[in-house]
Amino acid sequence: MNFYSANESFPLTDYLPQNPVEPYFRDYWMAMTDRYTKFQIATWGSLIVHELVYFGACAPGFMAQFIPFMHYFKIQKDKPETFDKQWKCFKLLMFNHFLIQLPLICGTYAFTQMFGIPYDYASMPAWYIIAMQVLGCAVIEDTWHYFLHRIMHDKRFYKYVHKVHHNFQAPFGMTAEYAHPVETVVLGMGFFIGILTFCTHVVLLWAWVTVRLLETIDVHSGYNLPYLNPFHLIPFYAGAKFHDFHHMNFTGNYSSTFSYWDRIFGTDQQYHKYVGEKQKAALKKSE
Ligand SMILES: [Zn+2]
Ligand SMILES: [Zn+2]
Repeated sequence: MNFYSANESFPLTDYLPQNPVEPYFRDYWMAMTDRYTKFQIATWGSLIVHELVYFGACAPGFMAQFIPFMHYFKIQKDKPETFDKQWKCFKLLMFNHFLIQLPLICGTYAFTQMFGIPYDYASMPAWYIIAMQVLGCAVIEDTWHYFLHRIMHDKRFYKYVHKVHHNFQAPFGMTAEYAHPVETVVLGMGFFIGILTFCTHVVLLWAWVTVRLLETIDVHSGYNLPYLNPFHLIPFYAGAKFHDFHHMNFTGNYSSTFSYWDRIFGTDQQYHKYVGEKQKAALKKSE
């Protein structure tokens, strides 16, 4: 597959805005590739990106519990975050991040070498190509997640693996990756299928992991702020209310990012009924 690089002209570029952060990004990227080996970038760089994005994205939701005004946006107001729950979540996360995910991250360098994935700035696709590749990855991951997640809810398997993720009936950002190691690997495979399909530069690994983490932490945040959240500009984006209902109800709403698979298979019916009843009750109250 031949994608346009940042330095090549492409008819669309005449109609697209110039990326304002590109000069700064180029300088930092080139300083990194000059200074570090490909192995260091693939392994330690990927680990740092994962940890910084994960806990950076969890921080606003974590702070929200101390701001009374934010309680208005909390989806399950009757189930606040507690210190015990957050500490329990953090401990399992450390186990998952460093004993399950880090060994997988260690395979990044071998993957890039096997498929001849470049690291240099000159080979980097233009930002809008990366954006389309990330969207493609999200569509693939969401499809994988829908079907595998639905299978994990089958009575025969649920108690062995997926029950761990459902430990929190009212999720908060950090619970996004709170899962049984088997689930981390099985649902995580959906992340890599997109990479195998679209990856033409190592930057896609970081762009996709960043978007995927921001998205999964958003839907687990427990707070619904649709007007301030740019993810809601994406057609069919499911959002926090949608996945929060999955944790509250234990069935339905199996997709990770989009709402269309649940709509097609009717697994969102209980959710829409619940939302309709809540709206009716709110209307009655205001009368
Ligand atoms: Zn589930
Ligand atoms: Zn969840």
